[in-house]
Amino acid sequence: MRKGGRWGAAALLALAGLLAGLYGGAAGIAAALPREELYAAEAKAPAETDSPAETEALTESEAWSETETAENFYAEMIPDSVFEQMAGKSYPEDCPVPREDLRCLHLLHKNLQGETKEGEMICHKTIAGDLVDIFQELYLKDYPIEKIRPVDDYGGDDERSMEDDNTSCFNYRLIPYSQRISKHGLGVAVDINTFYNPYTRVADGDRIVQPSGSEAYLDRDASFPYKIEEGDLCWQLFTDHGFEWGGSWENVKDYQHFELPDSVTDQLLKQYNNADVSE
Ligand SMILES: [Zn+2]
Repeated sequence: MRKGGRWGAAALLALAGLLAGLYGGAAGIAAALPREELYAAEAKAPAETDSPAETEALTESEAWSETETAENFYAEMIPDSVFEQMAGKSYPEDCPVPREDLRCLHLLHKNLQGETKEGEMICHKTIAGDLVDIFQELYLKDYPIEKIRPVDDYGGDDERSMEDDNTSCFNYRLIPYSQRISKHGLGVAVDINTFYNPYTRVADGDRIVQPSGSEAYLDRDASFPYKIEEGDLCWQLFTDHGFEWGGSWENVKDYQHFELPDSVTDQLLKQYNNADVSE
């Protein structure tokens, strides 16, 4: 987590980016690695300011917006300071997913009041480019997201993170009662606005709802803030990028959850020698 002085720095970076754009430089200063190292081959590059002429044609607010997105939405290798927070929490000692295969995303988001907030998310490199694109689009279209913090801010405790309505991705774990790595354990599943979009299933006749306290939001016909539903912008962007929504599952309902399909993740599991383990 970055602390202090970020907005002053952001404004300076924005100005630097704008000048770079005016003088024909590339918009992105942030990426520490070649983009192909950061994103999978199929991922799209973030928006760039192409030419001085194009920059001049933009109104002041649009130019700010272009620069702002280039400077504030990017992926990087996991910095040491972030990895120190992950170790022993979301990233246990025996985690078979190499640190080098994970990325730290820097994102902006707006809450329900329209206030811009900074977000940080850990994900697998295969979806880093997709998530940068998706969260840029959500931000530019004012889609409200309350907070985006790594689960390590909650000691790696998924329940606490969900109760706090936190949006997150990577948290290494096995699927319960199995030896198979879960999709959050691979960093290829994202939970959005978790308190208002609970997980639920019936077990032994009892309805289980997570996080606790979110029972009221099982009524998906009701109107309430941060609700994800089929056809909305969030659903549209994730499904366009090849994700499946847990809200459309048959028995289990996981309204907060978007994940890559098994056809993609089985390849990753094979890579991590975790494909043949029975559940
Ligand atoms: Zn999930």
